[in-house]
Amino acid sequence: MKKNILLMLLFIVILLSSCSLTPYSRSEFMMDTQCVITVYSRDDLDKLDDVFSSLRDIERMVSRYDEGSDVFRINEAAGVRAVRVSEETFTLIARAKEISLITGGAFNPLLGKISDMWNFTGTEHHIPSQDELESIIAAAGDMDNLVLDEEECSVYLASACLSLDLGGIAKGYASEKAAAMLAGEGVEKAIINLGGNIYAVGSRSSAEGWRIGLQNPDSSEGGYFTVVNASDEAVVTSGSYQRYFMSDGVVYHHILDPSTGYPAQTDLASVSVINSDGTLADALSTALFVMGSADAGAFCTEHGIKAVLLTVDGEISYLGIDGAEG
Ligand code: ADP
Ligand code: MG
Repeated sequence: MKKNILLMLLFIVILLSSCSLTPYSRSEFMMDTQCVITVYSRDDLDKLDDVFSSLRDIERMVSRYDEGSDVFRINEAAGVRAVRVSEETFTLIARAKEISLITGGAFNPLLGKISDMWNFTGTEHHIPSQDELESIIAAAGDMDNLVLDEEECSVYLASACLSLDLGGIAKGYASEKAAAMLAGEGVEKAIINLGGNIYAVGSRSSAEGWRIGLQNPDSSEGGYFTVVNASDEAVVTSGSYQRYFMSDGVVYHHILDPSTGYPAQTDLASVSVINSDGTLADALSTALFVMGSADAGAFCTEHGIKAVLLTVDGEISYLGIDGAEG
């Protein structure tokens, strides 16, 4: 079963001290993770029905395993033909391609076959050989193999060995959409947490943003190593501790280096990106993790990205934001 996984749920701490907000939460397991939305007025709870329903729609759209989904149909037709998809799917895939290009391929949405081989989400894990990986890495490394036809609203994978995987971007997109829906309904304060993809709607008060604690990778108990401020922004964290398996004492985690097909060998333990664009924040958190601290730091400076990098040695870099406030 996919859910039988070594998954450590990301505990994000929303710090509410010194203010008297009463939280009302609703939670559902979807997108292979626990999705929790918290509002701060009892009346706002009713508005969550539509939001959860929209999250389920997104899951159906991007799931690689749901036979009716756009992504499933694209993958089924890989190397054979283009597939017409919804405008929403098309836009998300176009975004994934664009971010892959700006990150120099560190974010790569074409590694589905490789993730399947590793089977991080199942119980039977497999460590693929170079031979198994070679042709897929080569095909996935060429973004021209992800052919997008805007007029036809169609997507074509130009090689049969490719499989689209939006797992590194979909939850960020979903959190941003949920935030926009809540704001559109007049909800002034909410925290959306889709397995570590946070979207902070509004602010804690007129004077202060939300204070979001970032989980200490060594702690599954909700301990945090720092606190960041966010107002109408996503705070998305990627880390090797979130999903992994161990074999012969080696940890194999789920964030792949597209140049090797193996779990990214990085000096980073976790990366958090803070951005009003939740889709970008999600994809970048994955990409920056793959890049490692030096390249990730340079990327954030060049592109004006706010992020917190935590190295495996416990060193914290604050990029574009002031240091720890908590
Ligand atoms: P999570 O999904 O656990 O929040 P991430 O946002 O970092 O974590 O995304 C990791 C997921 O993205 C993997 O489970 C896999 O589906 C996919 N993925 C793995 N490596 C990459 C990569 N280099 N680029 C894009 N997607 C990736
Ligand atoms: Mg991501």
